[in-house]
Amino acid sequence: MAAIRFFTGESLPLEMHKVRIVQRLDLPPIERRLEAIAEAGSNTFLLKNQDIFIDMLTDSGVNAMSDQQLAAMMKADDSYAGSETFTRLEQKCQELFKKRYFVPAHQGRACENLLSQILVKPGSVVPMNYHFTTTKAHIIINGGSVEEIPIDEALNLDSTHPFKGNMDIDKLRAVIADKGAASIAFVRMEAGTNLIGGQPFSLENIQEVRKVCDEHGLLLMLDASLLADNLYFNKVREEACRDMSIRQITEAISDACHIIYFSARKLGCARGGGMCFDDEKLFLQIRELVPLYEGFSTYGGMSVREMEAITVGLDETMDENMINQAPIFIEYMVQELQRYGIPVVTPPGGLGCHVDAMRFIDHVPQNQYPAGALGAALFIAGGIRGMERGTLSEQRDANGVEPMANMELLRLALPRRVFTASQVKYVVDRLAWLYENRRLVEGLRFVDEPKNLRFFFGKLEPVSQWQQELARQFKKDFGDSL
Ligand SMILES: *Cc1c(COP(=O)(O)O)cnc(C)c1O
Repeated sequence: MAAIRFFTGESLPLEMHKVRIVQRLDLPPIERRLEAIAEAGSNTFLLKNQDIFIDMLTDSGVNAMSDQQLAAMMKADDSYAGSETFTRLEQKCQELFKKRYFVPAHQGRACENLLSQILVKPGSVVPMNYHFTTTKAHIIINGGSVEEIPIDEALNLDSTHPFKGNMDIDKLRAVIADKGAASIAFVRMEAGTNLIGGQPFSLENIQEVRKVCDEHGLLLMLDASLLADNLYFNKVREEACRDMSIRQITEAISDACHIIYFSARKLGCARGGGMCFDDEKLFLQIRELVPLYEGFSTYGGMSVREMEAITVGLDETMDENMINQAPIFIEYMVQELQRYGIPVVTPPGGLGCHVDAMRFIDHVPQNQYPAGALGAALFIAGGIRGMERGTLSEQRDANGVEPMANMELLRLALPRRVFTASQVKYVVDRLAWLYENRRLVEGLRFVDEPKNLRFFFGKLEPVSQWQQELARQFKKDFGDSL
């Protein structure tokens, strides 16, 4: 994976693909952006795509597919049961992860639903490096609870630690001693830890975690949704992986786990999901649930076309020039933002660039959702859509108390192979403008707050007229420019 050096000394991420299909984009004028964010209740999830210029909401299901993936879709075998398409996907998963069984599901959270229904009991505890929103919700719905035990450095936003997604082994031992192995449903490791900024774990760490699991007869489950980025970082940041191929690293990680599940909306650059494991008893249990919630066990809610695309996409994930695409763009974006003094999560992770809203607008109190407010402000500033990953993404507890998140991040996802370097530069430019004018940004408050996963549908309003003020400043600085 030799990086290409520029004669001029320029440091730009370089796409190792060419674009053969394009989609038109429009940037609505500032007046419309102001209107649109009000209509969306300042919640970027509720914006309409036609109002958005650069969509950095998520990397989920919006990665660019390759010509090979599109070609494979044409040969999909459209049968309800026993399709060849399913067999191809099953075999690809067996080839990469070396597990006996593959069970399909329509997306990542569907895997979490089925696995939690079977493995989580009332009172169960699930230690993990860090939670993901839907994972935690499924564990809680089944009566369990989550113990987050990342290394201390994980929550340090400005760090040089190469593997902030590592689990703290001593804390794992402490949780087991405290709760008792019998109450632990499974131990969960998340690749490319989503909510702390797409931060990876090391191969060494997951192997250590497995050792502890073995000492206590515990299951180790891997959420492999963001495995592609994690693999890239293993390769470039971990001495022990330097001479291994991506396939070999995948196999070594898989070897350390009993159960692997993934969202193919990320891993495999298509739309779907699945679970891989060796345990026959688990297979028989889960096979009963699949037709109930997902569809027959040879498609699990996925279209056969998507399954073909996943098979090819998983194979492409083993290509170093493919999996480096998001991380090198994110690294570039982080470096550019730092040039303007903009607080951003370091080291650069996978998935996206994460702006530290708590420092960006340090005058906005956490109970007024700084990351959500910054997301609304960036949309006004540039038609750019990011996602709040902070207190808004948390849930009130049973007593109605709102827990404050560990961090307030505005996530700007870089879907794989989608944006060009100049589009990334534009986003950096608008963030730089916003940083200049950050005192104009104020907080938000709920007008309509759903009980579960409130960040999806919740509506908020600005605590003052700050959004109009921001738009006025934009007009002053940019005139007739969009
Ligand atoms: C996206 C994601 C999920 C959920 O997958 P969906 O396909 O969106 O349901 C689970 N875990 C992680 C780490 C994810 O990033």
